[in-house]
Amino acid sequence: MKILEKIRSTDSLPSLPTVAIEVLALTRRDDTSVQQLATVIQNDPGLTAKVLKVVNSPLFGIPREISSLKQAINMLGLRTVKVMALSFSLVETVGRAECDGFDFSAYWRRSLTTAVAARLIAKAACPEVAEEAFVAGLLADVGMVAAWRADSKTYTAVFEAWRESGSTLVAAETEKFGCSHALMSGELLRSWGLPAIVCDAVESHHEENLDKRSGNSLKLTNIAISAAQFAGLFGQDTPCRELFAVKETCCRSCGLSEAQLDDILSAMNRHVREAASMLNVQIGATVQYAQLQAEAAMQLANLSMQAEMERAASEKRESAIRAEADRLTDEKRQILEVAATDGLTKVANRAAFDKQLDDAFQRAAQTNEALGLIMMDVDHFKKFNDTHGHQAGDEVLRMVGQCLKDVVRGNGFVARYGGEEFAVMLIGDTTRQIRELAESIRTAIESRTVTHANKALRVTASLGTAEVTGNAGSASPGLLVEAADKKLYEAKRAGRNRVE
Ligand code: GH3
Ligand code: MG
Ligand code: MG
Repeated sequence: MKILEKIRSTDSLPSLPTVAIEVLALTRRDDTSVQQLATVIQNDPGLTAKVLKVVNSPLFGIPREISSLKQAINMLGLRTVKVMALSFSLVETVGRAECDGFDFSAYWRRSLTTAVAARLIAKAACPEVAEEAFVAGLLADVGMVAAWRADSKTYTAVFEAWRESGSTLVAAETEKFGCSHALMSGELLRSWGLPAIVCDAVESHHEENLDKRSGNSLKLTNIAISAAQFAGLFGQDTPCRELFAVKETCCRSCGLSEAQLDDILSAMNRHVREAASMLNVQIGATVQYAQLQAEAAMQLANLSMQAEMERAASEKRESAIRAEADRLTDEKRQILEVAATDGLTKVANRAAFDKQLDDAFQRAAQTNEALGLIMMDVDHFKKFNDTHGHQAGDEVLRMVGQCLKDVVRGNGFVARYGGEEFAVMLIGDTTRQIRELAESIRTAIESRTVTHANKALRVTASLGTAEVTGNAGSASPGLLVEAADKKLYEAKRAGRNRVE
């Protein structure tokens, strides 16, 4: 294992900042006081500010403003704040590593997804290790950064072999380096002095040395294994069709029900994005669980369709084959329908909208019809979530989707454009008709209420409209969206709850 020696001997990663070393020292002791921890963290003003920012973020859902470290520690507990401070220092340290050509955006996306998955699973399955789970997930792949710095040429060859062979990354690493990144990560974390339970779970997150684990260490290891597998699925390193098998293994090894796991997975994307903004790392585009489910179902349907067709063909009964093909096509159509629909609001999703708009543009270039677009965004929705909770927020989005369908009916194509933003595409309407429809949408949303926890809640929305004639030479879907978006922004600036 030459690479391990190299990692051990060279300064493969920047050394830990003093504050991290001191927090770690406190982590190893059980008798730390609130004052001690607060003092250590306060020595680093940047870190103090970051901790307070996170504590006041929606992730923790604390209703009142926390303004001091002591308050934060009393509210969240010593362990949580220790781990939080540690994560910030570690992310900062890894981020300082100069690594030409290393894809840090993919790296952080995977690491944060693993960290968030591990924390959410642990919170449901084994709450006493939830914070350790986050750190373990965050650092599970840190060995990759070290190995890249120690020998980027070999590592590039590893990535190539992995993509080409279709086998696992661990297999490719073991072949070329003599050991996996999991073992490298474990080695590094031990040299940094992280808690043994974290080092163990990281070392075994691809199921190596499992026989050495027991008790809470085994529990955390199983959590890390599942979390890494989900990160592979969300990061599209693993084919979606494996979703169902990975879920089943996770439920069994971590002791979760399917419903619990579905709740966790549905919340993943939001938490990952929040964690990224809180740790201030770039992670590029991420996928929603609903998308993953739809793709998984589609891949499986395609597979079973092929298998069924082959089976039927071998039986050589022509009419039976045709009937079967019809049935399967119908099944596929239903699955495609699910894939084009937004799971929460039941209106079309972004992918379906983009396709409709492209198609409409192509047709309009011939027919010279006018294309109209209404972009709508719920007002002050972040504050609404912070005040009433995400569940209430989700209820509102459902209501908004239904409201749009009710008002627009068959006259336009309604879609959830993203987050709390919706779009309505219209064909052949006049400027006045578009404006009137936007106004009816605005008043309809303003007047509807959502009942949550016995309270009647209301929201408003701002809308921007734009239109283009089909044969205008320079027109494009992108420009139309941009124009409507600009108007929407004007509506926001002009005070919200209005149409521009
Ligand atoms: P503005 O009036 O300027 O639009 O302010 P805003 O707070 O609505 O805008 P901002 O873009 O800052 O915040 C949007 C919020 O929408 C933040 C995000 O958490 C929330 N959100 C996005 N998607 C969902 C979702 O699926 N469910 C819930 N509950 N909230 C969501
Ligand atoms: Mg908004
Ligand atoms: Mg917004």
